[in-house]
Amino acid sequence: MVFSKENGVKNTTKWAVSSVFDLLSPPLCRGCGVRGSYLCECCKKYILEHLRVRRDFGEAPEAREVFYRVSYLGYRDELLGEMVEEYKYRSIRGLAGVLAEILWEGYLRSETRKRKVILVPFPTSRKHIRERGMDHTLILAREIAKRAGGGMEVSRMLRRRKDTTQVGASEELRKKQAKEATEVDEREVRRVLEKYGRALEKGKARVVVFDDVWTTGASMIEAGKKLRRAGVERLEGLTVVRGRRQKSPTIYGGLFEA
Ligand SMILES: [Zn+2]
Repeated sequence: MVFSKENGVKNTTKWAVSSVFDLLSPPLCRGCGVRGSYLCECCKKYILEHLRVRRDFGEAPEAREVFYRVSYLGYRDELLGEMVEEYKYRSIRGLAGVLAEILWEGYLRSETRKRKVILVPFPTSRKHIRERGMDHTLILAREIAKRAGGGMEVSRMLRRRKDTTQVGASEELRKKQAKEATEVDEREVRRVLEKYGRALEKGKARVVVFDDVWTTGASMIEAGKKLRRAGVERLEGLTVVRGRRQKSPTIYGGLFEA
């Protein structure tokens, strides 16, 4: 794993220290450092009080043609983003519950009151699943669904097609890789459309493509296009956080994509 200089050094040290403590004793709160849990009640309350669901298509005008809206909760360089990266790159599974709780309390609970949510986790490459020992997006989606009871269903209508990885790839190569990365599980799409077809038409159900981070949006957009072609209309895109464009977008853009 490569880190950007400003963020990476700080995070690496912090993660190394916190990981050692996590093994020896109860974890430290990622917000204030108090021992006992990954996020203490106080910090969770603070995050939820200050959280607002953000919605924009970022720097990807194409997203507008695929998704009717794209939602996210924060930025990568905020506490939420740091937790996402620690969860993903250091495979701290305990953070899945924390992040799920924030997504649920901060956004999806109110959504499931309005409509059934069919959450489609963006598939992780086999290489990354092997390296991390987990499919982080799928685990997170299931953690959220646990909290939703009957209001939500996780559907794996997207599958990984090729073990392409975007790290360090040029803009053009990234686009090509994004196109080839996913495919639609036609059988699963049929099942969902048979079960929820009418509800989807009436807006009583919604398919939400879900990932941890939106950087350029290329992968999500390509996956969304494929779902649209397979007959799934009115898609929402949802990520926990968004990557902020920094001084060196080519380096930054290539560092963190799933
Ligand atoms: Zn705290």
